[in-house]
Amino acid sequence: MDPAEFRRAGHAVVDWIADYWATVEQRPVAPADPPGTVAAALPSEPPTTGGEPVEAILADLDSIVVPGLTHWQHPGFFGYFPGNTSGPSVLGDLVSSGLGVQGMLWASSPACTELETVMMDWLAHLMDLPQRFRSTGAGGGVIQDSASSATLVATLTALHRASGGRWRQTGIDRRYRAYTSIHGHSSIEKAVRIAGLGSDGIRSIEVDPDTQAMLPGALRAAIEADLAAGDVPAIVVATIGTTSTTAVDPLPEIGAICAEYGIWLHVDAAYAGAAAVCPELRWTHAGLEYADSYCFDPHKWLLTGFDCDAFWVADRAELIEALTVLPEFLRNAASESGAVIDYRDWQVPLGRRFRSLKLWFVLRWYGAEGLRAHIRSGVALAERFAERVRTDTRFELAAAHPFSLVCFRLRADDDTNAALLASVNATGRVHLTHTRVAGRYTLRLAVGSPQTTEAHIDEAWTLLSDAANTLLTR
Ligand code: PLP
Repeated sequence: MDPAEFRRAGHAVVDWIADYWATVEQRPVAPADPPGTVAAALPSEPPTTGGEPVEAILADLDSIVVPGLTHWQHPGFFGYFPGNTSGPSVLGDLVSSGLGVQGMLWASSPACTELETVMMDWLAHLMDLPQRFRSTGAGGGVIQDSASSATLVATLTALHRASGGRWRQTGIDRRYRAYTSIHGHSSIEKAVRIAGLGSDGIRSIEVDPDTQAMLPGALRAAIEADLAAGDVPAIVVATIGTTSTTAVDPLPEIGAICAEYGIWLHVDAAYAGAAAVCPELRWTHAGLEYADSYCFDPHKWLLTGFDCDAFWVADRAELIEALTVLPEFLRNAASESGAVIDYRDWQVPLGRRFRSLKLWFVLRWYGAEGLRAHIRSGVALAERFAERVRTDTRFELAAAHPFSLVCFRLRADDDTNAALLASVNATGRVHLTHTRVAGRYTLRLAVGSPQTTEAHIDEAWTLLSDAANTLLTR
């Protein structure tokens, strides 16, 4: 494909994406076809000769791929947590793909590293993160592919610290322990397992039954029991906005315990961290000055397409010491001068995409006020929905809703609630998912699409209310 062909095909693809966004609401939010439908519609072998026009590929996208998609950008998508993209994010990613540079070293493409450092400082400024995370001090930020990777990198660095640096040479030489609440994300268990601590290396700390947030007293008891058994507490992962209910763990108390015992504190704010662009939602940051590392996903609630996790450490030297490996073929004068950042040392893979471009496009297009408006709209729409639940005696709220997720259920058994979810999702107009809160089946409605309006919330409520009528009168 030469540049002239790319220009023509590229315009067609951009038109296709714009049309998709303009019409996505007319589609069912999630497909109803059985497993294997998409695969069966594709040829079993690749083409021998190339040269297929982009129009033919786009036609197959329309007829084969799109009908098999769950439409995360649909205004009726309320599942999981939001995963919204935006025009500026797509354009920034397109430029990144077009440039095709590798940012593993500063020397491998200096602007790739320097734009990322500045974007991470911009984000820290926008969210008013503690000074210790800024690159102007001992800390700094880096873009990881996901919050899961951020947790893994934090865990590895915590092991480096807890072992007094021996972990790099000898591997796991003691029983190191990680702690998170019973609602800590599954990626924490995975990180602990990858780090070699085994599944029993993680201690799941009980939560307050009212707030679903970690109980600091239970954390302290678990740490002391492990110390008494000769184990080494290495890392506590606290969550701002747990996946089930968006509970906020009490960082001031948890942080003080970590400081007392010299344990690494990682704060996972994958979804809810974005809320901190709004000053009125920054109460979530109380106690963040204790954290050794912190992450959130702009790819969830900040209009930046997957993948983009913003990860900061308070002491970048520890992170680099833990992860650096320097083969001869990467040696260069800039790295040896010590004056540059080599992000390959801040992550698991060597290679890295130019992800900061999409953040740069997003931050410049929306500005702080545009992003705040997006977050505030999500919070207000969630409150509108919660108000419907609160004032209907057939329903109950299952947890507080400080952000844009509402957890609720019918005052009925688990099977009836599961049937309610299946029934509204079958309409194709909305897509919700579920969790369990205190052992009980609970529906989750998470707002995040910039296309979602009050009318979509009201429609979701009408569908739920009508389905409840049918189920309760059976
Ligand atoms: N942590 C929390 C609290 C989450 O809610 C999620 C995903 O929803 C993750 C981590 C994992 O995020 P990622 O897909 O970026 O790894």
